[in-house]
Amino acid sequence: MTDPARILEATAGGLALASAGALAYAVRVPSCSWLAPSVCRGASTRPAIALTFADGPSESTSELLEILARYGAPSTFFQCGVNVRRLPGVAREVASAGHEIGNHSDSHPLLALKSPGFIYRELTAAQEAIEHATGIRPRHFRAPYGARWFGLRAAQQRLGLSGVMWSTIALDWKMQTGAVVSRLLHGATRGAILCLHDGRVLEHRPDIRVTLQAVREVLPKLLDQGFHFEKVTDILCPTKS
Ligand SMILES: [Zn+2]
Repeated sequence: MTDPARILEATAGGLALASAGALAYAVRVPSCSWLAPSVCRGASTRPAIALTFADGPSESTSELLEILARYGAPSTFFQCGVNVRRLPGVAREVASAGHEIGNHSDSHPLLALKSPGFIYRELTAAQEAIEHATGIRPRHFRAPYGARWFGLRAAQQRLGLSGVMWSTIALDWKMQTGAVVSRLLHGATRGAILCLHDGRVLEHRPDIRVTLQAVREVLPKLLDQGFHFEKVTDILCPTKS
């Protein structure tokens, strides 16, 4: 005979599992906006791609800027406040090259399980560091590790930030150049937002050779395919000419 207590237990277990799954989805899936509004791709009205770089500025950012300038590729840099305070001159260099600067938190923590106050302070400290160094107040925020959490929605709202995830992540911090290149080429569609890294979290002098080489290889190929590059603000606008 079936024991009602066991049925109840199994049902509760199933519900807990289902809600844990739903929460994991909300925290990590780039297209999900349950915990904070965010976009993961731009308008498909033009053959445009947004290149985005997170975790900078770093000692190697300048080398990346040279490559982007060579191919006329305005991009978006999601910077961390700690890195901006360490390398304010590099943050300024990014801004004066005409790229867009977004907020990637202050110290790159995993926001999951953190309090709303902690989340707000992280976003605020990065806004202040970036504005102090570059004169620019970011309008976009990318969550560290792509993880959103309760309280992020309100923090974004108070600071006038909109969330930006990605349509393709390069995995440039852990894969070889060939694999990164093929991920990026595969993800190159109208309105794509590609996520790469010009830093490695808060590391000093990070090794970003894979990122640099992948960008060198991918940019001319995408231009040949008829794509052009837009900053995040631009690619989100469907009527930009
Ligand atoms: Zn990051």
